[in-house]
Amino acid sequence: MDKPTTYVHTFAEGDRTMAALLGGKGAGLAEMTRLGLPVPPGFTVTTEACTAYLATGQEPDGLGVEVARALAGLERATGRTLGDAEDPLLVSVRSGARFSMPGMMDTVLDIGLNDVSVTALAKASGRERFAWDSYRRLVQMFGHTVMGVDGGLFEAAMTGRELDAAELVALVEEFKDIIRKETGEEFPQDPGEQLVRAIRAVFDSWNGERARVYRHREHIADDLGTAVNVQAMVYGNLGPDSGTGVAFTRDPATGERGLYGDYLPDAQGEDVVAGVRDAVPLAELKTHVPRAHTELAGHLETLEDHYRDLCDVEFTVERGRLWILQTRIGKRTAEAAFRIAHDLREERTISADEALARVDGTELTRLMFPRFATRPGAAPLAHGLPASPGAAVGVAVFDSAEAVRRAAAGERTVLVRRETVPDDLPGMIAAEAVLTSRGGKTSHAAVVARGMGKVCVCGAESVTVDPDARLLTTADGTVVREGDTLSVDGTAGTVHLGALPLTASDVTRALETGTATGPLTEAVLGALAHADSVRRLEVRANADTPEDAARARALGAQGIGLCRTEHMFLGERRSLVEAMILARDDTARERALAALLPLQRADFTGILKAMDGLPVTIRLLDPPLHEFLPDRTALAVRLATAKHPDVRDRELLDAVERLHEQNPMLGLRGVRLGLAVPGLMAMQVRAVAEAVARRLRDGGRPRAEIMVPLVGTAEELRLACAETARVLAEVSAETGLPMDLPIGTMIELPRAALIAGQLAETADFFSFGTNDLTQTAWGLSRDDAEASFFPLYLEKGVLTASPFETIDEEGVGRLVELAVTFGRLANARLETGVCGEHGGDPASIRFFHRAGLTYVSCSPFRVPVARLEAGRATL
Ligand code: PEP
Ligand code: MG
Repeated sequence: MDKPTTYVHTFAEGDRTMAALLGGKGAGLAEMTRLGLPVPPGFTVTTEACTAYLATGQEPDGLGVEVARALAGLERATGRTLGDAEDPLLVSVRSGARFSMPGMMDTVLDIGLNDVSVTALAKASGRERFAWDSYRRLVQMFGHTVMGVDGGLFEAAMTGRELDAAELVALVEEFKDIIRKETGEEFPQDPGEQLVRAIRAVFDSWNGERARVYRHREHIADDLGTAVNVQAMVYGNLGPDSGTGVAFTRDPATGERGLYGDYLPDAQGEDVVAGVRDAVPLAELKTHVPRAHTELAGHLETLEDHYRDLCDVEFTVERGRLWILQTRIGKRTAEAAFRIAHDLREERTISADEALARVDGTELTRLMFPRFATRPGAAPLAHGLPASPGAAVGVAVFDSAEAVRRAAAGERTVLVRRETVPDDLPGMIAAEAVLTSRGGKTSHAAVVARGMGKVCVCGAESVTVDPDARLLTTADGTVVREGDTLSVDGTAGTVHLGALPLTASDVTRALETGTATGPLTEAVLGALAHADSVRRLEVRANADTPEDAARARALGAQGIGLCRTEHMFLGERRSLVEAMILARDDTARERALAALLPLQRADFTGILKAMDGLPVTIRLLDPPLHEFLPDRTALAVRLATAKHPDVRDRELLDAVERLHEQNPMLGLRGVRLGLAVPGLMAMQVRAVAEAVARRLRDGGRPRAEIMVPLVGTAEELRLACAETARVLAEVSAETGLPMDLPIGTMIELPRAALIAGQLAETADFFSFGTNDLTQTAWGLSRDDAEASFFPLYLEKGVLTASPFETIDEEGVGRLVELAVTFGRLANARLETGVCGEHGGDPASIRFFHRAGLTYVSCSPFRVPVARLEAGRATL
């Protein structure tokens, strides 16, 4: 056909590697064309044309000529002319960005129809009603999408009408009137003008509200632009040997092998995606059009072999002839991702590394979420299709805005709709689960929910949803109103009234106790085993109790990277801590510390036992002391209102006032506390050393390490280490046992990172407390900022992610890299780890791997995720 051009490529010219330029859809169409699959011919206008248009508000020079040339080529290839009065070529104009954004941008179909060509189409197809309905669709879509007319006006004009051919002729006139009235313009009869304006409208839809919200959530850059695919129309609504559908090479919900999909006889593609009519299982295509089914199965096999992954296609059967309209590497649930990667590896289609690359920590987290405990006798309120797995409880809401409003107030919601439309996206993001009464597993609700990992049950047909009255009614007449609690099981496809109890997932049980088996758990364990075999980063856990330590170990932790001893100062021990704080003299303080010693010793003994043979990093007390005392205002009120004020309360209030600080996070805490409160550090070190002695005597292999928090100067660390070494020597002398415990420091202040070389002269290890390091490097309160102005910052693009969640590589990350470099220069044997929240965050783990840390430490539940991501970081 035509020579390659700058802004326009025919399908025959491109290939799968060109997704940045042609968009995902355009690259897929090109690749299928190369593979010889039956793709209706067409061409793609590139993303570069779109970005050029969006930058200037005008089509770039030459685009018009290139489109005209490509159209001429298309006309030659099909032997028809756009909008011809005898035998018209009709085209679709569809968006197609580099990353899939299902339903978020605009599409215009049936371009080329006008008052004349509609008659030709009626004649050519032998179906008058079909032709006029197509024209009706064009005028409606064009009027709304291109000319900006409120879509509700068209809907209103259609309601309650019996749309036979004569009515449709009348309706088209009415639609044209609506356009005239609303815009002062005529619906354009010139097919060339229709095409140019439709392309422009698709460009514009890149910046539409829906598309922007979606990109933001999916972290897709705003400046990529969309490509536009112009393709010869084929029709699935030409009778019983026509139809349309979606097919997958494997089940995208469970990952099970074998063809899977939906088919809608005698219908157009939009009807499937919009969930307007309920589809039948793909297998039924066999009875409707057997040859098309066989051909489709063959093409799907070709595609999966070619892409070596789950593929999905949209297809249309036009009077018995199969056309493939789109293919993609299919979106899938977390469960399917693990199973498909595992199966493809077993089938030797992909390597173990590739299989590992195809799953991620976010998906694993999803699989570790709880499910509903089956409650005998509790009949579901309704059944629907299990569109996106998992379990969720929330109150029913009936529109997107309400879901957003309640979520902002901290309430969990279930968004209930007849069917969802792209405008429901904010509500779907805000809700815990989505329930629809109409639509199949490939309806908008199902596709979007799956993509987001949100629980979804769709097509619960026995439910009648009344959004105006804000209620739903079930088949047996049960009424659920806004605010009533629902439990939605996206795995079983059921909805229950009230809050059902949740139980641990099979994956979590398999990981923790090995008691669950099945294809999914096998796939997850396989991926983790490979990750463990390739990763360099060790994974430890943050745990403060023997129970958490045991759990973490079962989940694969290779030790404890952070044991926060302050958690042992709470509960009934609070009075002992109070006594220590209130002590008027050394004797009273020593007495209080002596009472705490055996309790701490018992804690450490339990933890060392649970982690026998593995390192346990115990951090000395960190938070400001006032955190262990009652609230200042409450205490003052109690004293002021008591008939006989308690002497102890007065003492407490004095202490609270003495210890009060404007900025306690920057105050008397961390190592400063250890140096300021006589005997505190010594008591804690002694408790650790005595616990080690006990474990040694019991034949254990305790590997305790002592960690000093919030260090800012080398002298602080030297003083803390000297005191620690003194107590260790003392206990060693008393017990006759060696006490050469590693002593290290946390790096939680920018200054500590900058003087890391000096610190490493004293420290055996560094552990990056990235929570405090982020707080102090940014000057942001870790307790307040996320709830306060972060939403605004995220919306304005000042931040793309919370730096408390994902490491800020260029700022805080730079401090980490500096400290590792300086630290290792001064002390070649220095171990380095991270124990802030970032230690369990997938993106951050990749960074820590690159930074060359020894280990990451995270909460027990995130240990498997960290193992997986540490493995993936090496690929
Ligand atoms: C940190 O600051 O990152 C850390 C692990 O300590 P904490 O969260 O206890 O302050
Ligand atoms: Mg800290």
